[in-house]
Amino acid sequence: MIWRASVLTLFPEMFPGPLAQSLAGRALQTGIWSLEAVNIRDFARDRHRSVDDTPFGGGTGMVLRPDVVDAAIASVADGRPIIYLTPRGRRLTQRDAERYATAPGLMLLCGRYEGVDQRVIDARSMEEVSIGDYVLSGGELAALVLLDTTVRLLPGVMGAADSAVDESFAQHLLEYPHYTRPAEWQGRRVPDVLLSGHHAAVAAWRRAEAERVTRERRPDLWAAHTVASQATAP
Ligand code: SAM
Repeated sequence: MIWRASVLTLFPEMFPGPLAQSLAGRALQTGIWSLEAVNIRDFARDRHRSVDDTPFGGGTGMVLRPDVVDAAIASVADGRPIIYLTPRGRRLTQRDAERYATAPGLMLLCGRYEGVDQRVIDARSMEEVSIGDYVLSGGELAALVLLDTTVRLLPGVMGAADSAVDESFAQHLLEYPHYTRPAEWQGRRVPDVLLSGHHAAVAAWRRAEAERVTRERRPDLWAAHTVASQATAP
């Protein structure tokens, strides 16, 4: 069955954007997944086609109206999970992408201005997801990021050569470094072990490098890796 993404946005022309290229683009063309951009403005109720209003309680900026957003959602809702992209959400992880890839598809709500009225987020039981601790001007780039990371995990999208088994975040580790020809470049040599043809030694070196870089750069990930390895130890 085709994996279906519906994006609710005030800027439908931003889609598929970069997702029309490379892996995701090929998969879109071959029908592994589909993407529809729903223009929230089409569901405005007044003659000015307004989608937002000033915040109750005062303050700057505008807030997307719950009735307009809800009508846009109702036009495509079919039981798929609904995600609201927001800096207030839980931070997106590789585990989330794995989970989304096994769903029948997703509906993604992109905010603008100050965000979306909380009542429609609650009423539609949306999952609130952030792509990082910084503020974007709208949810569209975040939706593209979430879709890119999910779509590449759909069956048939990545070839065996691109397999996700060894990638960063598998087993809570960052990936080991990569090298290709030439074996020496600007006086820098590729580590000898990678030229040795000794598969077990290469695997051990890669594992040690993955552990070292994770320990140095991501103590949070390293702690999770340590807990997970203790849980699976015989
Ligand atoms: N007033 C909001 C706050 O302080 O949390 C920020 C609103 S932001 C200018 C407008 C929209 O961009 C948000 O409604 C959300 O959809 C999107 N957005 C901004 N940063 C994001 C992030 N880190 N992750 C996901 N979506 C984000």
